[in-house]
Amino acid sequence: RITIGVLALQGAFTEHIELLHAAAATIPDHDFSFPEVRTPAELARCDALILPGGESTTMSLVAQRSGLLEPLRDFVKAARKPTWGTCAGLILLSESANRTKAGGQDLIGGLDVRVSRNHFGRQVDSFEAGLHLDFIADPQRPFRSVFIRAPVVERLLPHVEGVQAEEASKEDTVVAPSVPVREEGRKALSDHVEVLARLPREARALGKSATAGELGEAGDIIAVRQGNVFGTSFHPELTGDARIHAWWLKGVVEAVEQRDRAS
Ligand code: GLN
Repeated sequence: RITIGVLALQGAFTEHIELLHAAAATIPDHDFSFPEVRTPAELARCDALILPGGESTTMSLVAQRSGLLEPLRDFVKAARKPTWGTCAGLILLSESANRTKAGGQDLIGGLDVRVSRNHFGRQVDSFEAGLHLDFIADPQRPFRSVFIRAPVVERLLPHVEGVQAEEASKEDTVVAPSVPVREEGRKALSDHVEVLARLPREARALGKSATAGELGEAGDIIAVRQGNVFGTSFHPELTGDARIHAWWLKGVVEAVEQRDRAS
């Protein structure tokens, strides 16, 4: 039985659980459970985790009050278990983020990237785009995605010691503390960030002409993966399309089976 938790402190966690059930139907011969996670004990039972969208400052604050921040860092960065963050979840999984008017927050980290929060500005709080994602089933069929005060990946950071300190020296920046990887997590560690999707310029709503990140010329980066950690800017859980969940779940099954063989 594979246990995949959804962090349920705040935000769109119920929708993720519904889509996980839909995705599980595409993977026969496996027994899954998808519990809501609110305590360190509940997290400890999980093989993998989703961090939903919502408001990252609030989510981080509640996580801290619930004594979950350190266990989450351990889960993602030391044990290196499969973790997926959507929107606010992507922010929390980044090593570096800009501070907004709402202030900074304690990041978990795991992805060597800097995110730009609320990247598409205020006028356009939300928009939809049809994405062509070549890693999911039936890739020709556009994936309807919702961007709600969404972040983008502004920069990929080098995977080197001290990169957090260098980032932290910049103005208006919050960084995640570094956590040494444990032996059990070594296989799932990668120093390479893969860019899995960009938002085509023509698909982006025209609000504030958002300052494109360094890599924004080809379209803002909206999905990345690094080893065990996956992040998306948008909310795939709000459109009822389970294709990304099915793809991720398959990867989780492979990672868990590999881990079981190793131990
Ligand atoms: N703007 C939010 C934040 O900074 C994220 C928005 C979302 O998750 N839909 O946390």
